[in-house]
Amino acid sequence: METRRNIFFSYKKDPAKLPDIEQLMTIAKEQGFEIVTNQDAANIIVAVGGDGAFLQAVRKSGFRDDCLYVGVTDEEEASLYCDFHIYDTESMIAAMQTANVEVRRYPVIDVHLDGHTHFHCLNELSVRSSIIKTFVIDVIIDDLHFETFRGDGIVVSTPTGSTAYNRSLNGAVVDPLIPCIQVSEMASLNNNQFRTLGSSFILSDSRKLTLHIVQDGNEYPVIGLDNEALSVQNTKNIEVEMSGKIIKTVKLKNNSFWHKVQRTFL
Ligand code: NAP
Repeated sequence: METRRNIFFSYKKDPAKLPDIEQLMTIAKEQGFEIVTNQDAANIIVAVGGDGAFLQAVRKSGFRDDCLYVGVTDEEEASLYCDFHIYDTESMIAAMQTANVEVRRYPVIDVHLDGHTHFHCLNELSVRSSIIKTFVIDVIIDDLHFETFRGDGIVVSTPTGSTAYNRSLNGAVVDPLIPCIQVSEMASLNNNQFRTLGSSFILSDSRKLTLHIVQDGNEYPVIGLDNEALSVQNTKNIEVEMSGKIIKTVKLKNNSFWHKVQRTFL
């Protein structure tokens, strides 16, 4: 990490966890890194917590592709975005002493609401009915009206998000080396009037997906961007594409995406 020396630590201000975080900061200083309190001045952002904390750190720092994100879990269970455990200081020191760490690149999706508001997602975009009623979405791939969905909602996930919400909807787990968008349904109501594919499908990085929310009385779904809900109401068109941005993390030996999937789920 020769050229990256400024570290920002992102963590929940939980007094019980502060001593462990202070210990990490001390180790980083001993290795010649500078701890910065303004994340814009950082070229390494360390998220301490789990996957949720990693997603928040990426969002709060603006999905920067000019810095390295490092996930540190403080839980027993393995996390998909965390390459280090908070007590495994040996691995952290080894990585800090490596001049050129290998970098892993995670694809991100771009979401445009009604052609003006623009967001990024590292896990997924979710669009869900906010009341106990179905709602209707026209699903458009490029300029093809592919299907009309009626049900609870739709999740559009990235490859790294494929192990999260998407997986609970029986979507496939996708290798992040394949930049693509996966679309999964939540409880589609299929009958003679509304019919959807019924399985998840994966779009290449050159496709554009448009979700047109049909204005029929239940047009205020909850829109989720990773682990944040948007308070935007009355959205009609949601466009999703692969982003030009990527999120960089440290790539360690024997810790590929598939090692993590195996550790977490098998
Ligand atoms: P949460 O509801 O507290 O936890 C959701 C769980 O998903 C946590 O165990 C979290 O890991 C894990 N997770 C997050 N991203 C993951 C990924 N890419 N691959 C595998 N597991 C992942 O919320 P959160 O911790 O802030 O995470 C937000 C995510 O929860 C959303 O982006 C969405 O994907 C997911 N979610 C899933 C469902 C569902 O499966 N029915 C419903 C809503 C949201 P950590 O414990 O390490 O944080």
